[in-house]
Amino acid sequence: MPIRVTVWGEFRHEKRSEEVHKLYPHGMHEAIASFLRKNKDLKVRTATLDQPDNGLTDAVLADTDVLTWWGHLAHSDVQDLICERVVRRVQKGMGFIVLHSGHFSKPFRRLMGTSCDLKWRLGEHKEIVWITKPGHPIAAGLADHFIIPREEMYGEHFDIPEPMETVFISTFTPGGECCRSGVTYTRGAGKIFYFRPGHETYPTYYDPNVQRVITNAVRWAAPTPNSHEQTYGNRLEGWLDQPQPTNNQSRKFPKPTSRKSTTKSK
Ligand code: ZN
Repeated sequence: MPIRVTVWGEFRHEKRSEEVHKLYPHGMHEAIASFLRKNKDLKVRTATLDQPDNGLTDAVLADTDVLTWWGHLAHSDVQDLICERVVRRVQKGMGFIVLHSGHFSKPFRRLMGTSCDLKWRLGEHKEIVWITKPGHPIAAGLADHFIIPREEMYGEHFDIPEPMETVFISTFTPGGECCRSGVTYTRGAGKIFYFRPGHETYPTYYDPNVQRVITNAVRWAAPTPNSHEQTYGNRLEGWLDQPQPTNNQSRKFPKPTSRKSTTKSK
């Protein structure tokens, strides 16, 4: 079964700026989808902000194993309902790859629970992306660093929760700032990866190392096969005497005879 990937793009800069349009004539989302489509194990579609339901209908999300997200100008135009939909799907196991200025997107901030603010500076910086977790699947095929010749600067402090893993840190010249530029989390059953590079006026998504990281991250974030949704709440006595679940079956819990007979724990 291929991994079903939805590449979401805000797709506004490309329509407003001649410079960005020249670089990404079909949109940044199409540039990202194009390199992902070269992999036979990935089935890739795109979605954009100005489509109905911001491109993320229940049907699209139900058919998505991994969602990648690039947004910048119009985070507030993403409907709250759609943000909640994305958050719920992540909690149920959908992978979520957040790119560059997506650090300020509604669903990422909701999932992190912090401001996700950071320091930044426009202009040409040489970004050195250092691998801080050698052997991690997202860093597969990379040496101990790679260089992106021209990028915007993002610097610490980056107000994110302590990551589960820090796969990359970046340093910037000129300036000398550093930034945790590749970090992982889980929320519910879903895996999340934030990856910093990708300013719209630079050809970052044509960089083979950047493409490799995003491709690796999609495979890493794909849901675990045959995992099933967790259930929460009161676990009644007697559950251990019930038949063991097999394969993808959830354990059947005995039903309480009366609501009042169950002891509530605080
Ligand atoms: Zn940027």
